[in-house]
Amino acid sequence: MTGDFRVSVLRLGHRRERDKRITSHLGLTARAFGADEVILSGEEDDSALETWNSVSERFGGALECRFEAKPMSWLREFAKSATVIHLTMYGEPWRDVTGSIPKDKPAVIVVGGTKVPAEVFSIADHNVSIGNQPHSEVAALGVFMDSWLGPIEESTIFSGGQIEVVPSERGKNVVNHEEE
Ligand code: SAM
Repeated sequence: MTGDFRVSVLRLGHRRERDKRITSHLGLTARAFGADEVILSGEEDDSALETWNSVSERFGGALECRFEAKPMSWLREFAKSATVIHLTMYGEPWRDVTGSIPKDKPAVIVVGGTKVPAEVFSIADHNVSIGNQPHSEVAALGVFMDSWLGPIEESTIFSGGQIEVVPSERGKNVVNHEEE
């Protein structure tokens, strides 16, 4: 990995009512597995951005999140200098390809909601499947990020939060830095 490496997750086609929880979970999964940025597109929805910001405030880290009104224009432009990874059940098996996806320049992982525009398949440098069966964008993102990025340094990435969870064999061990 080099200093230019940065991971964004682009959520395409969010539907405010129908996708409320799954989009919220998608952003939290992106954050937990090491993304630097989550970009929401489709229907504008402040509540998703508020949830992600609120979790970062409480649990730390520097996740950036924003709404993008023109995701395909943004993606076309971003693709000129970045790696575009599209998660799709029609793609190549993730175990075969994660080792060859570069970590020396910015990357975006694209996940769908409603029907994904066909152009995404051609813009993508890598169309990657997590198995060839339909399932969930949240599951696909978690498996892909863990496989591609490997274990992340939680204590470094999520420093500065109000709450720190200390791994424990039993029960909940939580440090509240606000009370110190
Ligand atoms: N109805 C949408 C369509 O026709 O394109 C797809 C819906 S699917 C629940 C939403 C997203 O989950 C997909 O766009 C893809 O990013 C991800 N996804 C679902 N199954 C997947 C799989 N087996 N491998 C990789 N990604 C998957």
